[in-house]
Amino acid sequence: MTPTTTKFSGISVIIPAYNESKGLKKCIGKIAETLNISGFDWEIIVIDDGSRDQTYEQICCLSQVEPKIKGISLSRNFGKEATMLAGLEHASGDAIIIMDADLQHPPSLIPYMIDKWRTTGTQIVHAVKRSRKEDSALKKSIVYCINQMISNLGGINVNNSSDFKLLDREIVDIIVHRLPEKARFFRGLTSWLGFSEEYIFFDVVNRQNGKSKFCFLSLIELSITALTSFTSMPLRVVTFFGVVTLILGFFISTDAIWSFINGHSVSGYTTIVITLLLIGSFIMISLGIIGEYIAKIYEEVKARPHYLVKASVGVTSNKYAWVSP
Ligand code: UDP
Ligand code: MG
Repeated sequence: MTPTTTKFSGISVIIPAYNESKGLKKCIGKIAETLNISGFDWEIIVIDDGSRDQTYEQICCLSQVEPKIKGISLSRNFGKEATMLAGLEHASGDAIIIMDADLQHPPSLIPYMIDKWRTTGTQIVHAVKRSRKEDSALKKSIVYCINQMISNLGGINVNNSSDFKLLDREIVDIIVHRLPEKARFFRGLTSWLGFSEEYIFFDVVNRQNGKSKFCFLSLIELSITALTSFTSMPLRVVTFFGVVTLILGFFISTDAIWSFINGHSVSGYTTIVITLLLIGSFIMISLGIIGEYIAKIYEEVKARPHYLVKASVGVTSNKYAWVSP
């Protein structure tokens, strides 16, 4: 069951926020200012992803001053993907814009996105990162490698992509009602849909307050989710290497048997140890890859809700809203 929202003719901006109380007021202020001059009716829905600071209290205060600012508080930290889904499910505008709470996604881009959507009828407007100054060279290279892998193996272009997007109502309805998967990779899903897309480029500015919530491990976690949900190629790679090992094994065994028959079999302790270690490692890695897919199947089969709503302000929310499996 999805939350019941009364659709309105305007723009919904959804903002996932986790421990963002320091910069939230400024961020929402800038976005509201931009929307006010857009000429469209609007709403801003901030989804507090189980923050441990005053994020939700801030949202409530802002909502009292401007009722177009709405909020949802999730019962705990469910992660950005689930938080964005909560926003999409509660948004009621004709077009929905997703952006971060740290002003790294410039609000000044909003009018251009709306313009592309309105004038060309494009259903998805992606904001693509032109540069990302703040990140270390290591993070940039990891993100680059992962994006390349997902793009090449999964067949969807996620290079330099961001979650900053404008989606037409039709796209949001599809994401909410037709894609019930638990392991979600929003950037990939929007490209996978195949509807009309346009791109706008932007420079990522430095974070105004606090630190990035994505550490090295969460990036790896997100990459595994992205890869496993878009391609089964790693499983085929396992099969491929299995076949290669089998062919190599055949030649080496033939050679060993031939040497034994001719009475000059070499004492091959080192060779045996190296071979055993290599094959052992290969088997363990293969089991790990298969295990990742089984873990994802397990999560899907359990069919737990993506998120749980603890409280909300300004939006009609089913308190324990969930997406039907
Ligand atoms: N975020 C969230 N839940 C999380 C982690 C992050 O809602 O578990 C939000 C965060 O508050 C921000 C956005 O996701 O609005 C992007 O996070 P962040 O700026 O830390 O990521 P980065 O810009 O470094 O990719
Ligand atoms: Mg950020």
